[in-house]
Parts: sequence; structure tokens; C-alpha cells
Amino acid sequence: MKKIVILGAGCGGTMMANKLRRDLDPDDWSITIIDKDNVHYYQPGFLFVPFDINTPKEIRKSKREFLPTGVNFVISELVNVDWDKQEVTTATKGKFKYDILLMSTGCDIRPEEIEGLPDAWNKSAFGFYRYDDCQEMRKALKKFDGGKLVVNIAEMPIKCPVAPLEFAFLALSLLCPAPLPSRWQPVF
Ligand SMILES: Cc1cc2nc3c(=O)[nH]c(=O)nc-3n(C[C@H](O)[C@H](O)[C@H](O)COP(=O)(O)OP(=O)(O)OC[C@H]3O[C@@H](n4cnc5c(N)ncnc54)[C@H](O)[C@@H]3O)c2cc1C
Repeated sequence: MKKIVILGAGCGGTMMANKLRRDLDPDDWSITIIDKDNVHYYQPGFLFVPFDINTPKEIRKSKREFLPTGVNFVISELVNVDWDKQEVTTATKGKFKYDILLMSTGCDIRPEEIEGLPDAWNKSAFGFYRYDDCQEMRKALKKFDGGKLVVNIAEMPIKCPVAPLEFAFLALSLLCPAPLPSRWQPVF
């Protein structure tokens, strides 16, 4: 029996687990997917929570729900990959040997790496790229009663390059309801 281990049960890992379980004979291949938790976030929804288009509850599901039977789901933090031994170590569930390893651990934002930003975070500077942050952003927009709103991309790469632009349009329609200034009128 050959072993496939997938690291990360986010979008990429979950799609691969579904496709591979369909395509590969379970008598020949075992599939194990490892993630630190069982919470799936529909991340594009983070953009919509500040504007009450999605509720936080709507965009939070169980990861297991999206994994097919015949895939072994291990919930534990990944701590090491030994490339020579072809072995993954987890924090609490031991080691897993693999013949093929798929890495799909995604990327995350790090506001704390931008000088000065941690002091302002969730006070005058907000983000919408994480579950808790988008809810703080929602609260801030509710309280915003005028002034300047600046959309800043501190550093690339980011998960969704188009989301800041979408955010600007949504904020415009929330804060400057129609009639819009003439320069913002859509042209068909
Ligand atoms: C605001 C926003 C808007 C977006 N809009 C769109 C859109 O409109 N269209 C689109 O296509 N995409 C959009 N995206 C991007 C999309 O959500 C990501 O591209 C996608 O989720 C990436 O999938 P992934 O599997 O690579 O990573 P993720 O889905 O982030 O999964 C990574 C997984 O790895 C796990 N993991 C990481 N490190 C460890 C570890 N050490 N141990 C155990 N587990 C670990 C995490 O828990 C997580 O479950 C958006 C993202 C955001 C934030």
C-alpha cells in the first residue's frame, strides 16, 4: 500500500483529497490529510462580513464535512517534515510516513511585521483577511462617521489581490450612498 500525505485541509488540500480519492484505488493508495484544526473558513466571505453581506457564522464550517470517506483526517499541528526519511511529524498525533507528500499549508498575513502597525491594529488600522479581523473591521465601519478611509496594501503577496479594490467599492457604496459623485458614476 502506497501512502499519500496532504498537509493542510484548506481549499487546495481538500480539493486534492477529493480528486485523488476518486481517481486512486483504495486498495493501492492510502490518503491522509493533516490540519491543525477542523474549522473551514470560506475566506472570500471575510470581505463581505464588514458589510453584513455574509454573517461570520455563514462562512465557518467543519473541514471534515468536505472530505470524502476513505480519507484519514488527522487534526494536529504539523511540526516537521523529514525529507530523507519521507516522514511528517505532528505535535500530538505522532509521525506519518509518505510516498508522495502534497504541501498545501496556504499563506497568512503578518501585520506584526510592519513597523508601527501592531500599536494601531484594531484601533485605527484594520484588516479583513482573517476571521477575527473582518469582524473588528465591521464594528469599526459601523462607528465610522466621517473622515478619511485609506485602503493600503502593505506588502505583496496577499491571498486575494483583487479584494482591496472590491473593499474600496463596497466601502464607497456603504459610506457614500447614491447619488454618487459624477466621477464615480458607472459608464456603460
Ligand atoms: C479576503 C479574501 C478574499 C478572497 N477572495 C477570493 C476569490 O474571490 N476567489 C478566489 O479564488 N480566491 C479568493 N481568496 C483566496 C482563497 O481563499 C485562497 O487562495 C485559498 O483559500 C488558498 O487555499 P490553500 O489551500 O492554499 O490555503 P488555505 O485555504 O489557507 O488552507 C491552508 C490550511 O493549512 C493549514 N495549516 C497551515 N499551517 C499548518 C500547520 N503548521 N499545521 C497544520 N495545519 C496547517 C491551515 O489550518 C489551513 O487549513 C480570498 C482570500 C481572502 C482572504
